[in-house]
Amino acid sequence: MPHHFQSPSFSRRTFITTAVGTGFSTILNGKEVDENLIIYQPESNIYKKLNVPFNSDLSFTPAAIAACTDEISVAAAIRYARENKLKISIKSGGHSFTGSSLINGGLVIDVSGIRQKFYRAKYLSFTAGAGLKLGEVYDYLLRNGRLLPAGSCSGVGLSGLTLGGGYGFFARQHGLTCDHLQQVKMVDARGKFLDSDNDPELLWACRGGGNGNLGVITSMKFSTVRAPKMFTTQKFRASKLTPSRAAKLLKGWFEVAAELPKPMFSAFILNGGHLTILISSTYSSSGPAFQKAKHALLKLGTKTRGTYSKPTATAVKTYSGRPNPLPFRNMSAGYYNGFADLEDIAEELMKTTIANPGVLFQINTLGGAISDSKVPSAYPHRAYPFLGELQSYWQSPAQKATLMPAVDKIRQLLSHIPHHYVNYPDPDLKKPNRSYYGENLEKLSKIKQRLDPENFFSSAHLSI
Ligand SMILES: Cc1cc2nc3c(=O)[nH]c(=O)nc-3n(C[C@H](O)[C@H](O)[C@H](O)COP(=O)(O)OP(=O)(O)OC[C@H]3O[C@@H](n4cnc5c(N)ncnc54)[C@H](O)[C@@H]3O)c2cc1C
Repeated sequence: MPHHFQSPSFSRRTFITTAVGTGFSTILNGKEVDENLIIYQPESNIYKKLNVPFNSDLSFTPAAIAACTDEISVAAAIRYARENKLKISIKSGGHSFTGSSLINGGLVIDVSGIRQKFYRAKYLSFTAGAGLKLGEVYDYLLRNGRLLPAGSCSGVGLSGLTLGGGYGFFARQHGLTCDHLQQVKMVDARGKFLDSDNDPELLWACRGGGNGNLGVITSMKFSTVRAPKMFTTQKFRASKLTPSRAAKLLKGWFEVAAELPKPMFSAFILNGGHLTILISSTYSSSGPAFQKAKHALLKLGTKTRGTYSKPTATAVKTYSGRPNPLPFRNMSAGYYNGFADLEDIAEELMKTTIANPGVLFQINTLGGAISDSKVPSAYPHRAYPFLGELQSYWQSPAQKATLMPAVDKIRQLLSHIPHHYVNYPDPDLKKPNRSYYGENLEKLSKIKQRLDPENFFSSAHLSI
């Protein structure tokens, strides 16, 4: 076993005092199942702190939460679940839209205490414990001049993101997070320790098809890329939009976005009647591609306040999102080839979004290195250059009640869209597995049957 894959030296007490941020006395609230595992039950403060999904509209009452700090405690938690006939869920960053990392009446295997991180300069590789969050991964690697292309929100778990794919500002240039995954360690349903170096199919499955389905991932090794020194962004805005004007802007944006070179990313974000178009680049804003996109977006009639170039470490913090939970109902709005996929519904889609402040319809650019990648992976939808996301946020139950019909109407409008991103799950999809895994579904199902024949890992919505 190479040095960087040894079990982390974190103790349970370190986990409890750092991950949960509380004092030693509260450990007494936990039940020491054996020397490797502490289980927290509903009366414990630590249970209350760990039983928090990022989506605060959801709530769960697990029978207990196992606070794991290494693969040995994960195996002990699996044993405990079997002995007590408990169903389980696996939780890392807790950002699942649908709360698939928590479970009513079952045991939550919380891996957020598995926190080792190790950059090996000789191999340019990064080994991460399953509990790390994106913010600390960016901080750590950027200090070493390296980058793992990932999502933007700092609280998202590296595990959940990678196991479902993982895209962000840098994905068009460098590929998905899962494209950089080189090795995983997993505890299976029998508590056995698996290493993907001995099972290439396991690695394949974990590149985009491993969220909560196969076993508990405890450690991941990634390749890294050289970090760009600067990161540049510019926002273009239009407001008081009518549906037909918004549809024209959508068409225009698709045309501009389709021409972007790999180091550039763009997003179209319609929030009620306000449109923001973001472009970003790891190159200078004075370069021809950035200038071309900027002039084309201004020609569409948008307004801008200017370009912002910051050192990458500062820039990623600007987009790190809010740390605390909030109520929402978000889901994939599907993968698109271009405007033609939305043309027939564009005005109605824009009309419903505009009429319902609190509803956001967003499209992000994919393509580039994601489409070009030859990395064997369960992530199936590489060919699509665009990904849509439907979001809704509310301030009060009354506002929620008015937004939900609008969200459902937009979902109906999009019902012809066949493929969806598994990390933006939508439990109401008619054929979720096919939508998420496309033509890789059969191979993934076979791997699932081999690794977990009893379907022990069955709580995630993404279960196959
Ligand atoms: C605010 C916000 C911003 C986001 N931004 C992006 C983005 O920029 N790019 C992007 O691609 N996605 C993004 N997402 C989606 C995100 O990738 C998924 O929500 C992801 O599943 C979250 O992972 P997590 O570990 O935080 O969540 P969890 O809720 O802890 O887990 C999510 C799923 O993964 C499983 N899982 C977690 N850890 C393990 C493990 N160690 N072993 C096996 N299964 C495990 C869980 O069982 C669950 O089914 C965002 C989500 C939110 C809420």
